[in-house]
Amino acid sequence: DTRIARISSAIRVIPDFPKPGILFQDITTLLLDPRAFRDSIDLFVERYKDKNISVVAGIEARGFIFGPPIALAIGAKFVPMRKPKKLPGEVISEEYSLEYGTDVMEMHVGAVQAGERALIVDDLIATGGTLCAAIRLLERVGVDVVECACVIELPELKGRDRLGDKPLFVLING
Ligand code: 5GP
Repeated sequence: DTRIARISSAIRVIPDFPKPGILFQDITTLLLDPRAFRDSIDLFVERYKDKNISVVAGIEARGFIFGPPIALAIGAKFVPMRKPKKLPGEVISEEYSLEYGTDVMEMHVGAVQAGERALIVDDLIATGGTLCAAIRLLERVGVDVVECACVIELPELKGRDRLGDKPLFVLING
């Protein structure tokens, strides 16, 4: 697919960010290329348009870039999964582990209803810890998480295995 090649070449890799030894996949350069950005959204929309998905849950911060255009195109609502203390209403929270320490993800109570079908969107899966927290949060309120979708997967980190039997769809491997 020529679209995959275009997306792949629009993503910039920056060594030693945010700390030494890390090769950071920078999607901001993808956003500078309207055709490549459009291609990335189209590939997701083609996959999800007829899957009866009522919720696109986007993970802060870069899931807020890719999630909303997908949600609009497939006629689903968009729900932000946020870092702690950002959402003004009543929230439910899920703690998850990072390389050092823990973090918390929050979602507004009432944003989704039990029985809804959700797609979770983020830019990248590394260890899979972030997506796992989002899955747990949605499943706790009775939502059916149909699939997780990312632009980039770092396969060496085996995040896919951590998702168990939850399907993961990615556009490119980093
Ligand atoms: P995980 O929880 O799978 O280890 O990490 C995934 C999360 O960290 C995602 O929310 C993603 O945005 C962020 N992340 C980790 N490494 C990178 C990277 O190289 N590039 C980008 N854009 N995000 C990253």
